[in-house]
Amino acid sequence: MTNLDPEICYQIREARRAAKLSQIVVANDIGCKQSALSMFEQGDGTKLSDESIKKLADKFGIDISQKKSSVQATPDGAVVAQRTVSESKVGFCPNPRCPTNHIYEVEGRTLYLPDRAAADPVGGKFCAMCGEVLMKVCPNCGAHVHDGGFCSVCGESYISV
Ligand SMILES: [Zn+2]
Ligand SMILES: [Zn+2]
Repeated sequence: MTNLDPEICYQIREARRAAKLSQIVVANDIGCKQSALSMFEQGDGTKLSDESIKKLADKFGIDISQKKSSVQATPDGAVVAQRTVSESKVGFCPNPRCPTNHIYEVEGRTLYLPDRAAADPVGGKFCAMCGEVLMKVCPNCGAHVHDGGFCSVCGESYISV
């Protein structure tokens, strides 16, 4: 497969190693040469056919189709799912005691960091944790909410005690 993200090749290599399978065993299994698999695992996605890559992905439970858009590599090399939060539809919970709002302190001030994905996983009306009516816009100025504790338009904290 051309234009395959090398990251996928490395993931397949790691998955194969984790499964304690040799390249020969896996190559036989998917019907390719061990040498081709070896080069593929070093990041050269052109060495295997689309069909072989699909078999590898299925075998190790790796999702090829979404790799480029839905995951990102963290500095330590782990791959984590990226949150896909719609900017306009996902609200936050205005209840300061709700567990979706993480409390932190800066210079003696108590601040809240809303976890919008936890409070509003489906773009609904009510907080998934405490049932409070979700806020979809800044309570102070009406701007769209975004991740973070403060409105980028007016600078107000989203959650006030
Ligand atoms: Zn809540
Ligand atoms: Zn605002």
